[in-house]
Amino acid sequence: MHFKDAVFLEDLCPKLRNRRWRRSLHDYTNKSCIYCGCPSESIDHVLPRSRGGISITKNCVPACLSCNGQKSNLDALDWYRKQRFYDPRRAMAIKAWTDGDLRLAMRLLEWSKPKKDKNSEIFVEAA
Ligand SMILES: [Zn+2]
Repeated sequence: MHFKDAVFLEDLCPKLRNRRWRRSLHDYTNKSCIYCGCPSESIDHVLPRSRGGISITKNCVPACLSCNGQKSNLDALDWYRKQRFYDPRRAMAIKAWTDGDLRLAMRLLEWSKPKKDKNSEIFVEAA
């Protein structure tokens, strides 16, 4: 028996591994879209696949279907800056994520959430 025979279940089932990996990405953002904070329903390639972006954690962020569809194959940060839900802390989080610093990205996302206690700033979305 060769060492190569001792493969992990996940190596035998790329689909299972892919699903686990995707779920882990959603867990980093508490299942919310990295761009707008809505529930994340998809994985967006920061650098689109059509432009050579690959499916690695640094290049894949949880996104809602709306953001994912609107961003299409545009540059993520250029597109994001033009959105009305733009939040500079989220932009920094996206930058940190693509730099591979998920811990910093998570912290920035935590800050970007509207605070609910009355002593802190309240962000009201423009109607
Ligand atoms: Zn979104």
